[in-house]
Amino acid sequence: MKRQSVRKLVLLVSLLLFPVTMWYFSPAIIIMGMAQHILTGSFFTFLLMLILSMFLGRSFCGYLCPAGVLQECAAYVNSNPAKQGKRRAIKYVIWTIWIAVIVIAFALGEGTVGVDVFYMTDHGVSVTEIANYAVYYAVILLLLLPSLIHGRRAACHYICWMAPFMVIGEKIGQILHIPQLHVSADNRKCISCKKCETVCPMGLKVEQMIKENNHCQCIDCIQCGACVDSCPKNVLSYSWKEERRV
Ligand code: SF4
Ligand code: SF4
Ligand code: SF4
Repeated sequence: MKRQSVRKLVLLVSLLLFPVTMWYFSPAIIIMGMAQHILTGSFFTFLLMLILSMFLGRSFCGYLCPAGVLQECAAYVNSNPAKQGKRRAIKYVIWTIWIAVIVIAFALGEGTVGVDVFYMTDHGVSVTEIANYAVYYAVILLLLLPSLIHGRRAACHYICWMAPFMVIGEKIGQILHIPQLHVSADNRKCISCKKCETVCPMGLKVEQMIKENNHCQCIDCIQCGACVDSCPKNVLSYSWKEERRV
């Protein structure tokens, strides 16, 4: 439980810092930068997400993302698991179109390629003007509403433009056989109490996954460890050992 308290505290700090960090996650800032051949802070954030996920899976989502804690708060209002199925494909459509726009912006842009990590910020701070606060609250609503309406971390499942970077990174890591952080299980000890499913912020069918595969390694697992910490029989644990993938 201690680990979950620390995780939630870190997430909360990340949310409080969101007015500072917002542009570093912005899908628009990277396009604006590319049009001027400038590699912005958001460019490096997304690159880092891709690289880190080869080793840590989607731990960023579980431990650092400001939108993550926002949605975990929404779960106090609507704790139903978000429906899976075709809606999950929306984020990949958004991502593909967005990446195409980035490439086009770069191709049409002019000038030598440069780096400006603090591009469009005020001394590194994203939200400093009233107009920016309108964008800030619009983003908060965009990320909060799906979870309030559809259930646990619905924005992560349906619309997040950053999730595909980590899914791709995770897959690359698996193809390259890089030891990757994930939740492993000893399913012989499982008593099917489903406490792991009750606490899973992504609303995943944890019990079914461990019964079928002996681990929780799927593209929607954010390595938060809530299932590990709630299991009364110590069935689950973090592991780096390579396992058969789902
Ligand atoms: S899926 Fe997107 S919104 Fe959800 S925690 Fe990960 S990065 Fe944040
Ligand atoms: S909490 Fe543990 S014992 Fe209960 S269903 Fe999940 S893995 Fe099995
Ligand atoms: S399966 Fe476990 S580690 Fe993965 S998201 Fe759910 S609670 Fe977190």
